[in-house]
Amino acid sequence: MLRGVLRLTGMGFRAAAFSLVMLMCAFQAKAGVKPDAPASASAVALNAGVLADVDPGNDYVVAPPELIVDCEAKLRALGVVFKPAELPVKAGNAKRPTCGAPQAVVFQRGPTKIRYNSAPIVSCGMALGLARFEQVLNEEATRYLGQPVARVEQGGTYNCRKMARFDLVSEHAYANAIDIRSVTLKNGRKLSVLQSFGKLDGEPKRPEARFWRSVANRLYDEGTFSVVITPFFDALHKDHIHLDQARYRVDGSRR
Ligand SMILES: [Zn+2]
Repeated sequence: MLRGVLRLTGMGFRAAAFSLVMLMCAFQAKAGVKPDAPASASAVALNAGVLADVDPGNDYVVAPPELIVDCEAKLRALGVVFKPAELPVKAGNAKRPTCGAPQAVVFQRGPTKIRYNSAPIVSCGMALGLARFEQVLNEEATRYLGQPVARVEQGGTYNCRKMARFDLVSEHAYANAIDIRSVTLKNGRKLSVLQSFGKLDGEPKRPEARFWRSVANRLYDEGTFSVVITPFFDALHKDHIHLDQARYRVDGSRR
């Protein structure tokens, strides 16, 4: 049942988020689970390929990410250049949610050397995701636009806050999310989500719109991120794509 109800892919988004809140409340009442509880120290093994937590059994847990064994060594093995960072987990109170991440890094350069407008500070799991993200960006940009990506404009990662529309703590509070606003191709052409995602009804003909949709679909379908929110989701996301590694899943990558 958890799988059916809490995997949010097949449901209306508003109804799904509402169900998630209701189920979380039910579970908390029943099992004494606190959604804001600090991350347990138990380690999460990364499946080959799938980076996000796709275990349906913990979908109701909203908390800082769990520790990933040898995460920094995994980043180094992928060719990621990073600096260790500190975002200590601080328990929340009535005014402020629990925030922070048990493992954080400043992601300076990934395996394909794409540059960011500002080096993102992210959970170590998200840094692993960003290394894969670069590869997907380049494959899809080359496929649809004949050029790899040189630069990514991100609009924020760590931010101690709740979600804008729902009474849930945002994964941004755990540095476990990133907002992508635009990419610039190697030839200097800039593609913003706002201007190039295309109309939301019907199949787009323009290659830049097909590029964005294909990137978003792959990032979700391949389990790089468990939550992929595009302009399809709501007007709040008309100008950026939100990617995170929450324990629940939301497929906002398609209509
Ligand atoms: Zn976001």
